[in-house]
Amino acid sequence: MSSFSRRKFITSAAALSSIPLVGTTMSNVLAESSKKPLGFALCGLGKLSAEQIAPALQHTKYAKLTGIITGTPAKATAWKQKYNIPDKNIYNYDNMHEMVNNPDIDVVYVVTPNALHARDTIAAAKAGKHVFCEKPMEVSTAKCQQMIEACKQADRLLGIAYRCQFEAHHLECIRIAREKEFGNLKMINSGFCIDNGDPKQWRLNHALAGGGCLMDVGIYALQSALYLTSELPISATAVTTVTNPEKFKEVEETISFQLKFPSGVVGNCTASYNAIDNAGFRVVAERGWYGLDYGFYYNGTRGIRSDGKPLQFADKEYGSSEKDTWPQFAKEMDDFVQCILNHKPTRVPGEMGLRDVNIMLKIYDAVKAGKSVSLA
Ligand code: NAD
Repeated sequence: MSSFSRRKFITSAAALSSIPLVGTTMSNVLAESSKKPLGFALCGLGKLSAEQIAPALQHTKYAKLTGIITGTPAKATAWKQKYNIPDKNIYNYDNMHEMVNNPDIDVVYVVTPNALHARDTIAAAKAGKHVFCEKPMEVSTAKCQQMIEACKQADRLLGIAYRCQFEAHHLECIRIAREKEFGNLKMINSGFCIDNGDPKQWRLNHALAGGGCLMDVGIYALQSALYLTSELPISATAVTTVTNPEKFKEVEETISFQLKFPSGVVGNCTASYNAIDNAGFRVVAERGWYGLDYGFYYNGTRGIRSDGKPLQFADKEYGSSEKDTWPQFAKEMDDFVQCILNHKPTRVPGEMGLRDVNIMLKIYDAVKAGKSVSLA
């Protein structure tokens, strides 16, 4: 695998401001060495891996499912049969360091509960693998730093799975904002609410999740406010509410947070674990507004502009239909491979994951303090 030594990784808090806030255009130029797809091993075979990522890997152009890492032998058997994975490419969390001798696996995609991302990322990096890691990156900034450092030491690329930064409607909204089609931005209203179901799941356990709806789905609202403004917020206020204290003993049920940006833009963001599904944003600018309904879903996104012009795409790039849920996942993995092969930084680096965890923890500080906290 090619050397990453010339990559300059940034880890200091001050340097975080130099992370690109907006996705760059995906390169179509593949290195000669990229004719063969890179091998991906999925680490954690839960709902997301089974229902989205593995299906997406059946459509990726430059990535291929070649291995799995699981603590559940029955899943290993089922996945082996379903995806034709050889025994030599099946690992558990304790022996994944043995991947160091396995050329079939180039990238480990970490899809375990949030507080295990550092454990799995560091093990994969030490085994010489590039790492693509689910959001949120981890539950503390210290653990995010350790992940960045481990990948840097191993000279491997680290990316965070912010799938919306690869989705056509989001990219169009970023373009509209950047080109100021409606003038300067004034306000962003963004939210992601779900009914999170099972009261026994790890998402309600603070030690494994690091927080509640903010860490899980509010992160989409936060990300959108940042990539739409291309700014970093300077302060935040926030409140949480709970209507089901029995279920939400350890993590917040609902949160509303407000971000103040240097230009004067205000971000009004909401998230909930106990509401009817609702996801998307509205951007209010000087001369009009635009936004996405169903905007953070896997499919079905609907765009709208105040001037009546279309903000709707039938994305044919992968020959997918509107009903398919995997295209965002295929795109983010293919882009990650292209970054590896072409020695380019990813638009979703570990430093961005760290930046967002840092902001979310400060939003929790704002809840506790009951007043605005500085993010500068
Ligand atoms: P899940 O509960 O369905 O799967 C988690 C997997 O981790 C399971 O296979 C489980 O066996 C395994 N695991 C290993 N150690 C565990 C432990 N100590 N406790 C519990 N499970 C353990 O969760 P999921 O929905 O697949 O989420 C996994 C990750 O993916 C999370 O970080 C989540 O935030 C992220 N996610 C991202 C998206 C997205 O759209 N990008 C969507 C859903 C989840």
